Amino acid sequence: MATKAASAHPAPKPTDLSAMAHSEAHYFNSYNHHGIHEEMLKDEVRTKSYRDSIYQNPHIFKDKIVLDVGCGTAILSMFAVKAGAKHVIGVDMSTIIEKAKEIVEVNGMSDKITLLQGKMEEVKLPFPKVDIIISEWMGYFLLYESMMDTVLYARDQYLVEGGLIFPDKATIFLAGIEDGDYKEEKIGFWDNVWGFDYSPLKKTALTEPLVDTVDFKAVVTDPAPVITFDLYTVTAADLAFSIPYELTVRRNDFVHAVIAWFDIEFSKCHKPIKFSTGPHTKYTHWKQTVFYLQDVLTVEEGEKITGTLENKPSEKNHRDLDIKISYTLHTEDMHRQATGEGVYKMC
Ligand code: SAH
Repeated sequence: MATKAASAHPAPKPTDLSAMAHSEAHYFNSYNHHGIHEEMLKDEVRTKSYRDSIYQNPHIFKDKIVLDVGCGTAILSMFAVKAGAKHVIGVDMSTIIEKAKEIVEVNGMSDKITLLQGKMEEVKLPFPKVDIIISEWMGYFLLYESMMDTVLYARDQYLVEGGLIFPDKATIFLAGIEDGDYKEEKIGFWDNVWGFDYSPLKKTALTEPLVDTVDFKAVVTDPAPVITFDLYTVTAADLAFSIPYELTVRRNDFVHAVIAWFDIEFSKCHKPIKFSTGPHTKYTHWKQTVFYLQDVLTVEEGEKITGTLENKPSEKNHRDLDIKISYTLHTEDMHRQATGEGVYKMC
């Protein structure tokens, strides 16, 4: 899904959302506009991985009842029909589903796809159970806007024993980067604004992770997988976690920030399909998430940076995230030893 890109478009007037909390309304309204769906459909890595995982497995989809959680324009529903599904139910709260109905109609699939407007957690499905769940639920930093909860709800409520989830694995990675110039431009800027000390805003700027593409050449450490979610077994409670990580430094350089990205896997296919949203591979609309550190670490090849990555949905708005990254540079050079903790909010 295309989190936040929504803010690039003026939010259309709320439709039937008056009863919902304002933030929920804002979230669903952001998916009303076709622009956000255009961005996702044009994301080749994303859409092609879903298409391949479905088209390459007609033996899995044939004659199955499929649930498309957050169907948007119904692209995944139509892939499933082409792969031989008996019937697909697409659910989306956003008004884009009206267009999805027209799209399904002009593609001659209306008898195979039932589209329901509503919250996944509230709609009544025409089938008591489904064989396969397909969903594109991933946000920035994987978990921002927390649509995974919704997929887990659908799994627990509707998936038959032994049913399949596409995709079924997601892993968050971390790495350290050199980003002196940009950090200076974004964070250092507040040290002197037209001759005044703006450091209170510097603290705020440091708490905001930046979603941006990171040049692979800026990566100074090996990437480290930190946590893998198995969609068959994960629970909503597991989305609050505190996990240790260890990064090995690849070259003598500086570390200004830690970046995060995620990989996605469709493992229950004939031939498993994976894609990555990391800096080493093709662009995706998720880019990477940059967490600037208070310190600049001066690092040498072979040294280790260790710490913990902590994440929890925010108490005020469960779609926002409170993230903490602690770090210690292990070096025999006491002048370069450093330890600290960054506190971030994705909202
Ligand atoms: N499946 C489409 C759209 C993915 S974007 C595609 O791959 O292109 C995620 C969609 O999920 C959005 O359209 C959003 O409105 C919908 N969504 C998110 N949470 C939902 C919920 N709880 N109930 C219904 N729809 C939801």
